[in-house]
Amino acid sequence: MKFGTRAVHAGQTPDPTTGAIMTPIYCTSTYVQEYPAVVKDGYDYSRGKNPTRTALQDNLASLEGGKHGFAFASGLAAITTLLQTLSPGDHVICGNDLYGGSFRLFRRVMEKFGVRFTVIDTTELAHVEAALEETTRLVWVETPTNPLLRITDLAAVAAAAHARGALVGVDNTFASPFLQQPLALGCDIVMHSVTKYLGGHSDVIMGALVCNEDALAEELAFLQMAVGAIPGPMDCFLVLRSTKTLHLRMERHCENARAVAAFLSDHPRVDRVLYPGLPEHPGHELAARQMRDFGGMLSFVMKGSVEDGMAACARTRVFSLAESLGGVESLIEHPPSMTHASIPAEQRRASGLDDGLIRLSVGVEHIDDLLADLDQALTA
Ligand SMILES: *Cc1c(COP(=O)(O)O)cnc(C)c1O
Repeated sequence: MKFGTRAVHAGQTPDPTTGAIMTPIYCTSTYVQEYPAVVKDGYDYSRGKNPTRTALQDNLASLEGGKHGFAFASGLAAITTLLQTLSPGDHVICGNDLYGGSFRLFRRVMEKFGVRFTVIDTTELAHVEAALEETTRLVWVETPTNPLLRITDLAAVAAAAHARGALVGVDNTFASPFLQQPLALGCDIVMHSVTKYLGGHSDVIMGALVCNEDALAEELAFLQMAVGAIPGPMDCFLVLRSTKTLHLRMERHCENARAVAAFLSDHPRVDRVLYPGLPEHPGHELAARQMRDFGGMLSFVMKGSVEDGMAACARTRVFSLAESLGGVESLIEHPPSMTHASIPAEQRRASGLDDGLIRLSVGVEHIDDLLADLDQALTA
């Protein structure tokens, strides 16, 4: 079935006792057994399995075109659980323009447990090939990246990693499964900060992993239960409600972002715009090949000083000044002082993150109001 149909139906059947069309919120920690250790369908304790979570996990797996889905208490909890499949001495290659919290998790938490990380520019295949070692177990990629919107060739990275026995994990948060399906491009694990486009309404923190490989899925199911970083049934219900409209929201996010990118490109106060949908973007052709559309995120740099840009962020009225992204409402932020402040300034600059960079999460409001708001904020 097509994406929009799976978004509405996958993982969800009418409730067998009443026919309720919506999956119930199973607020239960435990399940009654008829005889010691005779368990219905694996439901013995809700850390291990909960029916509302099962419905959501099946829905998310279907949207990514994968076999197995796992939901977690946050995006970082999902990455942490995946990294717990590794052992001391294992090596991970990751992109140099990652979500700041992923960097912090790698450097300040996982390195203590003896996992080694090499940070490279994954948009250059030669850099990936050169960084692969005997002990490399995982290549971790974001595309488009945050906040520079760089594009990595997922099929090429998967081929290079597989040739050396490493798996490829993709943080697909920026694209959403509607725009990009890494498993179909040969990658092994997809991760989402469900908090963003999948949740879509800025009211839930959640993460997810999706994979095809049965042995890996078994390990992840064990870790999800053994480590316990799970979401509650209420949040699972909210996200099930959200994914039903993912395709509709993404179409409008893309349409609005395309218009905002064109508007900013022509604006006299703007120096440059980073959006993969613009023909001059270095990743444009690759993005056109591996994505359905170019997404709702874009970044730009104003002419003038860093302070001019920061002041413009504080002047918008429809765009809210806030971290996060992917909700129906438009957001504006200044990554160097907000989302990416945890990355050392030298490292930020080395990876091309300008001190004056401004990031937009373009929402689904009317485009006329979005453009008028940006215009008054830039020209004031
Ligand atoms: C927000 C985000 C994360 C972290 O997810 P949380 O749900 O906040 O834990 C990871 N990767 C990307 C690209 C993100 O935007």
